[in-house]
Amino acid sequence: MKIHEYQAKEVLRKYGVVTPRGIHCTSVEDAVKAAEQLGGKIWVVKAQIHAGGRGKGGGVKVAKSLDEVRQYASQILGMQLITHQTGPEGQKVRNLLIEEGADIQHEYYVAALTDRATQKVAIMASSEGGMDIEEVAHNTPEKIIKVFVDPLVGLTDAQATELATGIGMPAGSVAQAVDTLKKLYTCYMETDASLAEINPLIHEGNGTVKALDAKFNFDANALYRHPEIVAYRDLDEEDADEIEASKFDLAYISLDGNIGCLVNGAGLAMATMDTIKLFGAEPANFLDVGGGATTEKVTEAFKIMLKNPKVKGILVNIFGGIMKCDTIATGVVTAAREVKLSVPLVVRMKGTNEDLGKKILAESGLPIISADTMAEAATKIAAAVQ
Ligand code: GDP
Ligand code: MN
Repeated sequence: MKIHEYQAKEVLRKYGVVTPRGIHCTSVEDAVKAAEQLGGKIWVVKAQIHAGGRGKGGGVKVAKSLDEVRQYASQILGMQLITHQTGPEGQKVRNLLIEEGADIQHEYYVAALTDRATQKVAIMASSEGGMDIEEVAHNTPEKIIKVFVDPLVGLTDAQATELATGIGMPAGSVAQAVDTLKKLYTCYMETDASLAEINPLIHEGNGTVKALDAKFNFDANALYRHPEIVAYRDLDEEDADEIEASKFDLAYISLDGNIGCLVNGAGLAMATMDTIKLFGAEPANFLDVGGGATTEKVTEAFKIMLKNPKVKGILVNIFGGIMKCDTIATGVVTAAREVKLSVPLVVRMKGTNEDLGKKILAESGLPIISADTMAEAATKIAAAVQ
């Protein structure tokens, strides 16, 4: 689960990380009031969306007067902000963060994330923080340094110092940078984050180390332990079809291809998508109906897949174990009738009550294409959408 920058900074502040003072708002009037309340002469008007790259997309502006705050807030609020992470259609800005200006001497990058290869938490840091970190990672990966944390010991002073000096923090800021890194690690662990990133982390003229931006991803499987984080959820920022699917306990992720897939079991769903690609076609979604699929669930799954205008065919691949093939077959027939299915449908089912399932499909009178193997199913659906 993702959250907004203003929320991420609230989380960091709870752990003692220093951030600029800021106020979240949703209207131009409130933005101007927020700037007045913060005081000072420089403010930053920041678009709040669940995607990075806002600075380059025109979603972060430095204002030097209250008039400029008003001008930038009205420009940014409601805009369709396009960044390299939003896709070409962009994301509508509904929230702003108004912050006091910072005295940036240098921008660094620091992040905590799970490293699969070492099965440890990695803390990464770079002297080259700011808006071009992707290019740094691509062109000069040696400028990103990493340490791996022993879970029984935590991030040590020695490791944090290695990072702080390695990225070139000036001597007077090293102690606070070490402290910030250790707090970032603690925060990452205690909130069950899968990513906690500060980019940029800066040092100011007086040596203060501050987080100017913050980004978190939280492990969805651990959210039950963190109601305070669930409360940050902003459904406006999430894919409407994925939210709809989650209401029916369907695991659905939309993708770019044109073949809708309905499968039981995440592993089989992955294998099905691989097979579709192997036969030269592209999946339009990942959809796992799970072990206890009912007719209602299958119908909802069809509706969600068909909402995507790119879908030109559907492949149903079911392994009947606890779930019986005839249950799925009834669900498929009911759903196809209810949604007046107009795209080719290939069904492959194996396992418990397979013959009964196939009989239900055959006797439905619907133009369902039956397949026996995964290869045959993928070949048939790829040909049908050609
Ligand atoms: P992102 O592009 O979505 O990662 O948004 P950031 O919050 O990182 O902002 C992009 C850039 O705007 C940063 O790299 C900074 O250079 C600049 N910026 C952000 N906050 C401030 C601030 O408080 N003062 C000033 N002067 N610049 C800022
Ligand atoms: Mn940033």
